[in-house]
Amino acid sequence: MQRRTLALVAANVILGAAVAVGTAVPATAAQDAAALVTTLTYDDSGARQYSTEIAQGAANWNAAVTNVRIVKATSGQRVNIRIVADPGWPQATLGPVRSTGSAQVWFGKQAVDQGYNKVRIITHELGHNLGLPDRRTGLCSDLMSGSSAPVSCNNAQPSAAEKASVQRNYATGLASRQVPATIVISDAA
Ligand SMILES: [Zn+2]
Repeated sequence: MQRRTLALVAANVILGAAVAVGTAVPATAAQDAAALVTTLTYDDSGARQYSTEIAQGAANWNAAVTNVRIVKATSGQRVNIRIVADPGWPQATLGPVRSTGSAQVWFGKQAVDQGYNKVRIITHELGHNLGLPDRRTGLCSDLMSGSSAPVSCNNAQPSAAEKASVQRNYATGLASRQVPATIVISDAA
């Protein structure tokens, strides 16, 4: 009896989580939810000096949203996000990039030299790849405020509104919609 109760509770928890990300078929809800997650791969071989910060930026997004994941590409795997070091200001192509698409980040040294937080820089640029535009609010609590926030701003976490926006960009039914990553956002301060 005890065991049966626990199993029911567990089933309800799984069902609840699946419903939260927009799945409608209870019988295979957990499986459907997993299938709806977009996984994007990144390659940082052109920006090895920033590999620690890049991994942290991806981890920040993975902790913030559930509809899309950013993982380091394994050898020979298709690359969705190519990250390269660049002497200028950071730039990125505007997504949302899909699992069949390609995006790029230029990890601009000029922002690093000016003292901007490197994890904030890459998390911001990945935000562009995930479909977020710049919003120069000046607020450190906004990730997409970029360099309009003070140089001393170390926040590398998206705000609730920014998380919700990315969740929508990768929500059910939109995952197959292709957006060519042809717009480059330049983050010169
Ligand atoms: Zn930007």
